[in-house]
Amino acid sequence: MALLKIDNLVVHYGKINALKGVSLEIDEGSIVTLIGANGAGKTTLLNTLSGVIKSTEGKIYFKGEDITDYHSDHIVRMGLSHVPEGRKIFSELTVEENLIVGAYILNDKTRIKSNIERVYALFPLLKERRKQIGGTLSGGEQQMLAIARGLMSDPDILFLDEPSLGLAPLIIESIFNFIKEINKQGKTVFLVEQNAYMALRIANYGYVLETGKVFVEGTTEKLMNNDQVRKAYLGIV
Ligand code: ATP
Repeated sequence: MALLKIDNLVVHYGKINALKGVSLEIDEGSIVTLIGANGAGKTTLLNTLSGVIKSTEGKIYFKGEDITDYHSDHIVRMGLSHVPEGRKIFSELTVEENLIVGAYILNDKTRIKSNIERVYALFPLLKERRKQIGGTLSGGEQQMLAIARGLMSDPDILFLDEPSLGLAPLIIESIFNFIKEINKQGKTVFLVEQNAYMALRIANYGYVLETGKVFVEGTTEKLMNNDQVRKAYLGIV
């Protein structure tokens, strides 16, 4: 059974039809990527799945349960965590305070402490910088903090919205290594990217979204060998 399943999702912003019947499945333990150009509807899809935007039609199932009408808090509690585009860390708060905010659904201080230690083990740099003000971190460090904060609720699935945005190639490489490690440690990852090359290198399966519709899907090997994907998203002619 898929961990997350979407059936024919339609989303409107007033008269704008941003998603036109999107269906997809994410298996437990996998890295699934969604690639697409600016305005294809990638962020809209993530926001709908995490309960921030309501769909006009279609169904969302998480762990076999219909969550289409659930509030975002409830969805987080069920084990879905969303790291938004543009990181959106709290720039006035320290690294550690940002992490504590990420654990807002947990009331248990011991669990918060052990989750902090777990993310520090994954990102030792954040431990060194625990008292540094978030806004003074570099772009790559802020992205690490955003991902670490997303892990603080100990989710089963982590949504990452364009983690490579605005970062230099070497930093992107290191962020993608962290994503692989997080997946190895048992988290399912739904990775939304414009950087198709990097995303297809680490994912098991991919979907290409074009103007609100899935244009092609398949194993990453299949997508890498698809002429249209190569031309439009990988820049290979
Ligand atoms: P990007 O990579 O640029 O973030 P995206 O693939 O994530 O693009 P979305 O942000 O989901 O795309 O946008 C999909 C479509 O919906 C676009 O045409 C966009 O202009 C429109 N849209 C997004 N948010 C709103 C909004 N709040 N009100 C009206 N239209 C919106």
